[in-house]
Amino acid sequence: MSQAEKQTLGFQTEVKQLLHLMVHALYSNREIFLRELISNASDACDKLRFEAIAHPALLEEDPDLRVRIDFDEAAGTLTLEDNGIGMTREDVIANLGTIARSGTAEFLKQLSGDQKKDAHLIGQFGVGFYSAFIVADEVQVETRKASAALAEGVRWVSKGDGEFSVESIERAARGTRITLILKEDAKEFANGWRLRNIIQKYSDHVGLPIQLKKVADEADEKDETAALEWETVNKANALWTRAKNEIKDEEYSEFYKHVAHDFEDPLDWSHNKVEGKQEYTSLLYVPKRAPFDLYHREAPRGLKLYVQRVFILDNAEQFLPLYLRFIKGVIDSSDLPLNISREILQQNPQIDSMKTALTKRVLSLLEKIAKDTEKYQAFWKEFGQVLKEGPGEDYANRERIAGLLRFSSTQEDAQVVGLADYLTRAKEGQDKIYYLIGESLEQLKSSPHLEVFRKKGIEVLLLTDRIDEWLMSQLHEFDGKALVDVARGDLDLGQLDSDEDKQAQEKATEEKKPLLERIQKALEARVSEVRVSTRLTDSPAVLVLGAADVGVQMRKILEAAGQKAPESKPILEINPGHPLIKRLEETAQETQFDELALLLCDQAALAAGETLKDPGQFVQRLNRLLLDLAD
Ligand code: ADP
Ligand code: MG
Repeated sequence: MSQAEKQTLGFQTEVKQLLHLMVHALYSNREIFLRELISNASDACDKLRFEAIAHPALLEEDPDLRVRIDFDEAAGTLTLEDNGIGMTREDVIANLGTIARSGTAEFLKQLSGDQKKDAHLIGQFGVGFYSAFIVADEVQVETRKASAALAEGVRWVSKGDGEFSVESIERAARGTRITLILKEDAKEFANGWRLRNIIQKYSDHVGLPIQLKKVADEADEKDETAALEWETVNKANALWTRAKNEIKDEEYSEFYKHVAHDFEDPLDWSHNKVEGKQEYTSLLYVPKRAPFDLYHREAPRGLKLYVQRVFILDNAEQFLPLYLRFIKGVIDSSDLPLNISREILQQNPQIDSMKTALTKRVLSLLEKIAKDTEKYQAFWKEFGQVLKEGPGEDYANRERIAGLLRFSSTQEDAQVVGLADYLTRAKEGQDKIYYLIGESLEQLKSSPHLEVFRKKGIEVLLLTDRIDEWLMSQLHEFDGKALVDVARGDLDLGQLDSDEDKQAQEKATEEKKPLLERIQKALEARVSEVRVSTRLTDSPAVLVLGAADVGVQMRKILEAAGQKAPESKPILEINPGHPLIKRLEETAQETQFDELALLLCDQAALAAGETLKDPGQFVQRLNRLLLDLAD
């Protein structure tokens, strides 16, 4: 049979790189290899249990799923054998020779020398099967897929040095057997006590019996030829089925690593049993770190779905909205049908109501985390951008999501200001939440739009993320207070403006009518209106967006996407008390007046963070003016 031929194949480049990095980065924590291999065995048994619902014959004569760990202290070898789903030759080549996660290559390329030693970054991949090479000189895998003929077994061997071989073998047992030829300095792992310890530390939560070979002096000494005796060393019931108060934090953490294929502890979790019309248990985790592919469309996301303890689906994305795609965990339903498929999940009112409830759970969990400022900062740094997608996606929870957002402000450079915080600092009579959007904090802080707020001591949120203008277009109020872009429309400070301010403003508008008309004429092509400003104290002029106009940030996003933003002319507001405006007013000569007006307008555009359409002309105009001054 030509299939039986031994083939030698090379690992995918990414695998080679990862293997190399991993062995170094994880050296100090190498016992985790066992957790990873047990996790895979448990997944394999979960899959078989699921397949066997429809095809009970798959279980053959061996229905009790388990993983067995055997070792030979003298030889320095370790063997894990599961009776799970197993693999075909194609499965073996694909699963143990490639990493099927898009973006991996770019991610690895971007890692700098220092980062390459960072276990956290390597852990992002879910260290997985390849972690065996941290402790082994050679790894041998023998496997047979459930239902495949005995002759369709496969043997895979590699020294982790860039190549592996595969050949077909005869294999009586279903499932996968992995043998590690331990490195000289890792022989300590071929020891019963050591193994028992590691299993209890990392894998106690696994819902599959993990059996360890009984050490010789414990086994029945009278019968040396007796079959090996096995002892189950873990609790072997799925963690989420246990009572909350009986589960230790470390157990929750270890279970997270199994479910999320993560290397680090989670940031927090929420474990709940729902009873009543629908019955299910959920265990939801917030990771500490965003995965490198959080923004990849095809990146795996969603929860692990079980029905009555039977594993059904990985990455079931129907239970949470997209803006909560970073949440990991399991959901175990008592009343969904066992034969549920991805398709059925898509249009099922029961799933929709679970999604509504689970979304609220996550929001509550985040609200709980938010009570601890430092912890919430850690969360916000990693996932804040994703949460900002929330108000647009989840209309019903807009207000709650808004409460979870954090911004920089005129009082805080760091993104730590929540809307509720902001309101506790609001001025007497302030019934609005003010914000300004721009490219960078530096640019925003020197924006003329802030002048009046500074004068009156009113805090303004400073928004610099790409998504912010879009976010604010979805979010109109919080706690009954309107959110107001200070660079847009008429700035009505309501009660914050004194009566004197208002009268002065009306008077100036009346007095400056001829000047406003002259400027308007000079800037016909550039602005839609010229008016007296309430925004300025120090600057001569400022450009203001119409209430419904596309802002600078959104315009850039649209243009980058090759779309044309609708044209709109801004409003020019002037500060009648400013010497430059007075100078303009005194300029009788028409061409000179026009030059000055144009300069004023360009200047205001620059201060707003815009790029000038014709910077060359601006410079020429400025130079002419400078030369005039020199005369
Ligand atoms: P992950 O578990 O995150 O998918 P791993 O590197 O741990 O990544 O494993 C890669 C793949 O190899 C698994 O997804 C699975 O398809 C396959 N695999 C590994 N171990 C086993 C096993 N014991 N039985 C069956 N398949 C396995
Ligand atoms: Mg794995």
